[in-house]
Amino acid sequence: MMSFECECGNTTRFFATGDRDEQGREYVEVEDEDRLAVIFGDDSVLFRCKFCSYTYRLQKF
Ligand SMILES: [Zn+2]
Repeated sequence: MMSFECECGNTTRFFATGDRDEQGREYVEVEDEDRLAVIFGDDSVLFRCKFCSYTYRLQKF
């Protein structure tokens, strides 16, 4: 699965839950929410490291 790695060395993964939506896309969740916060905004998704508070932004185009 996908993994997240911050500059500070904090790593966590996303795991597949086994649940799918009506189009067959499988839901994923953060393995360890004490390590990574995922925040959804109107035009971007933020990934915030809970160790060093550094935030990564994934822009929606
Ligand atoms: Zn970090």
